[in-house]
Amino acid sequence: MKLNIKIQILFLLFSSIFIACQNKKSNYNEHEINNEIVDVQEETQEVENEELDTIKPIIEEKDTVERNSTYNSKPARLISDIEAYKNHIEKNPKHKLIRLADHNSKIKLVPRYYGTNNIFDRSLYSMPEVFICIQIAESLSAINQELEEDGYRLIVWDAYRPYSVTVEMWEHIRNPRYAATPQKGSRHNRGMAVDVSIEKLDGTKVEMPTDFDDLSREASPLYHGISHEARQNRDYLIAKMQKHGFTVLSSEWWHFDYKGWSYVPLFDISFEDLLRIEKEQYLKISKKIK
Ligand SMILES: [Zn+2]
Repeated sequence: MKLNIKIQILFLLFSSIFIACQNKKSNYNEHEINNEIVDVQEETQEVENEELDTIKPIIEEKDTVERNSTYNSKPARLISDIEAYKNHIEKNPKHKLIRLADHNSKIKLVPRYYGTNNIFDRSLYSMPEVFICIQIAESLSAINQELEEDGYRLIVWDAYRPYSVTVEMWEHIRNPRYAATPQKGSRHNRGMAVDVSIEKLDGTKVEMPTDFDDLSREASPLYHGISHEARQNRDYLIAKMQKHGFTVLSSEWWHFDYKGWSYVPLFDISFEDLLRIEKEQYLKISKKIK
């Protein structure tokens, strides 16, 4: 009898230890899983927050396209005829497209859509020219002057872009997230937008968040997950541009629209035709002086 009691006590004791061990193991697993869920939730939250910055302008673009139900209809205010362009700038001299190099030779011009150093891997422009609406030229000069005082200069990657090039880009990308639709056109088609960066006056590269036309989330001017130096340089450029009437695009730190862009129509005048018009006007003035 005494032996049976001892066996029973020992059995109860082992059973308790076994159950306690199992509980502990299961609690530990639960704790581990909970931790993983929290980590995943935090990660998801982080990604969602980061993506929000880049998604904002994309949503705007998508809404507009869906409301109008087509991508390919032409914008209402498009001037593609040379005579119509000449008439327009005669009435609206502030809308004239000028060669930036003639206005300011200190700004560095690196037209990225001429040549293959762009996301299309081919040349979209027939010549390495940078044209821009005359209204912007003065502001860019003032910005470059201020940059020079700090030891930097402005680099212009793109400015006026003929409408037909925007259509060509669309044919290649066919995604309103990454390209302006033919229906809407681009602010570049008005000569009222610029894609810019900076470099040091001795030509040394300055660290920026991304290269031109980078489609990652790092391209957002609100993105924080980049080096301190890149953030400082980006914010310095944005501050200088904003001071002189430009607004940065929320998905591209290098793209700036100039105030009043919506008053200027979209143009589809080739660089060759713009050069021809400039030459004609120069000859006219020369004749008058003689
Ligand atoms: Zn741009």
